[in-house]
Amino acid sequence: MQSLHPFHGSIQEYLQEISDPNRYRPDHCPLCHAPDPLRAHGFYCRTLVDVRYDGSIRVRRYLCLLCRRTVSLLPEFVLPYLRFAIRVIALFLVARLLDRRTLRAAVAAFEPGMPYQRGQFWVRRFRERAMHLCAALPGVTAVVPATDFVVRALQMLQATGWISAHRFLFAQLRMHLLGWPRFLIAHGSGVNVSSASSSS
Ligand SMILES: [Zn+2]
Repeated sequence: MQSLHPFHGSIQEYLQEISDPNRYRPDHCPLCHAPDPLRAHGFYCRTLVDVRYDGSIRVRRYLCLLCRRTVSLLPEFVLPYLRFAIRVIALFLVARLLDRRTLRAAVAAFEPGMPYQRGQFWVRRFRERAMHLCAALPGVTAVVPATDFVVRALQMLQATGWISAHRFLFAQLRMHLLGWPRFLIAHGSGVNVSSASSSS
């Protein structure tokens, strides 16, 4: 199970902070609700591209001694299963869909080396999610009166802050900002997608 690591700071600060297993150790199991603190259970590595960062980061894992399942603390500046950080995706989507820049100009605005097809992929996923986001985000911010779901969702995300919005969607609704990967929805493994509706 993935939980959110409530972290504000640079990636370097994050990497230092997670070396201490006690700092964010869950005091109970979120899966079976056993009341005992979880045991530190190493790390896994994932790649990450953020503004001025391109490398891998460690993600802290804990083990419940009762149900033997693991809980990983995903830092809240990344989205599950996506290599690029929320900040980068947000910059791109705003440049492309709110500021109406061309695909190439939107990519060049922050990451000249990124293939623009990646940006197309985010745009497609975001368009599919926009209506669901418009339905969910009033839980955390005021509704924006735009006629278009994409513009409305973007403006609500801008007003909330993308990472704050992700924290709400993920922690409260188990919703993925850009939609859970199809393999998870198809096989129902790993995450509870009951409230994160499938994008068709
Ligand atoms: Zn447990």
